[in-house]
Amino acid sequence: MAEAAHRVGRDPDEVELIAVTKTVQVPAIREAIDAGVTLLGENRVQEASDKIALLSMFPITWHLIGHLQTNKSRPATELFDLIHSLDSLKLAAALDRHGVSLGKQIRVLVEVNLGGESSKAGVLEHDLLPLLHACQGFTHLAIEGLMAIPPFRRNPEDVRPSFRKLRLLRDEAAKTCPDYPLRHLSMGMSHDYEIAIEEGATLVRVGTAIFEAKSVV
Ligand SMILES: *Cc1c(COP(=O)(O)O)cnc(C)c1O
Repeated sequence: MAEAAHRVGRDPDEVELIAVTKTVQVPAIREAIDAGVTLLGENRVQEASDKIALLSMFPITWHLIGHLQTNKSRPATELFDLIHSLDSLKLAAALDRHGVSLGKQIRVLVEVNLGGESSKAGVLEHDLLPLLHACQGFTHLAIEGLMAIPPFRRNPEDVRPSFRKLRLLRDEAAKTCPDYPLRHLSMGMSHDYEIAIEEGATLVRVGTAIFEAKSVV
């Protein structure tokens, strides 16, 4: 990660590693924690809730990186420090309500469906600005950036245009919506995180490259 940052003149401290622990059992997660990982990512609220309870003695921060249904949004706001998967106004309204009742800002990223793939979650590119504008009235929703899971390409170099597109979308959105500085870009996984860092990622989500030998899929 540091080498990728240096290649493009970025400060490696601008990029955080999220160790993705979905399907990984607690003993293997403990090994990762012992090795120095402090930020963990989970896809599902229930699975995360169980692990968070079992690992509560460690100074760990948890992010939700999977799709979030509105009916699970309340526990999500209590369990996670950052939710990467805001993808509708309905969910935004629910999160804002929870923020009001908990008395805290709910930190989120907007997930963008860059490839327009029907199998994937996220807002389409042309729905991003309307969503951001619609959210401006919410007092307890902190939209801090964008997240994407670009279409898979065997050669990670072929994902670069998608990462670049997400960065440009962010730049454009931040300009037209000054309420939201959108400092985070959550992009890059095991096989393409270096390219993502070269294109401006601030959060990379890495699962198999860390847990391969241990994960049961
Ligand atoms: C599983 C997952 C990852 C990690 O993918 P790897 O290829 O195992 O690194 C990253 N982001 C999301 C949203 C995921 O679901």
